[in-house]
Amino acid sequence: MNMKVDILTLFPDMFKGPFDESILKRAQEKGLVEINIHNLRDWAKDKHKTVDDRPFGGGIGMILKLDVIDRAISSLTTDHRTPNTKIVLLDAGGKNFTQKYAKRLSMLDHLILIAGRYEGVDYRVHEKLADEVISIGDYVLTGGELPAMVITDAIVRLIPGVLEKSEATEFESFSQATNYKLPATLLEYPQYTRPKEYRGWEVPKVLLSGNHKEIEKWRKEQSIERTKKSRPDLLRR
Ligand code: SAM
Repeated sequence: MNMKVDILTLFPDMFKGPFDESILKRAQEKGLVEINIHNLRDWAKDKHKTVDDRPFGGGIGMILKLDVIDRAISSLTTDHRTPNTKIVLLDAGGKNFTQKYAKRLSMLDHLILIAGRYEGVDYRVHEKLADEVISIGDYVLTGGELPAMVITDAIVRLIPGVLEKSEATEFESFSQATNYKLPATLLEYPQYTRPKEYRGWEVPKVLLSGNHKEIEKWRKEQSIERTKKSRPDLLRR
């Protein structure tokens, strides 16, 4: 069964573009993933299509309403809810999104992403409706649309058949370095292309040597060095 991604948002037009280009476009055309963008207002009940309200207890800003989100989820899960469906709320306070997380989500049949706005969503969405709450980083964005795009992109490229062989993910940053027989998560090794020399800046000689054993050894060392330098936390983990 192909994966289905449903995204709930107040700004569906924001998704024009990112999903209509390159690998994501190809994946949809090949039928490997179905991505649907839904306007949350479609589940508002009053004539003004109200989706938000003031917070109980006072405070600034507006909160997205629980009942609207619940109706949206119910209608999206009527036919498709299986144990392999997950409802994910995007929230700055959620669990950190990582490559490992992306891998796990890429195995689902059905993913529903809820993009918050304004001051966020009624907390009962966290407590009662969402299976998981995800953050894409320790900063606050104006809405969950960009996180929904980031997560969808990271997941879709991991679905078998989406990437060509030449675009394989096994050596990429944050992937388990099983080929190096290391239990660590490493960054990718440095890569270069023509010209060999530009303004006196040269490509490492070993890469031009044709000695595959040496090249592999160099790449492994560089991967570890690069990780040590820019992400030592990955090695400590
Ligand atoms: N008042 C909220 C807080 O302090 O965490 C911030 C709300 S933010 C302006 C509006 C929406 O953007 C959130 O409901 C969430 O869906 C999304 N959002 C903002 N930053 C995010 C992040 N780092 N990761 C995931 N979603 C984020």
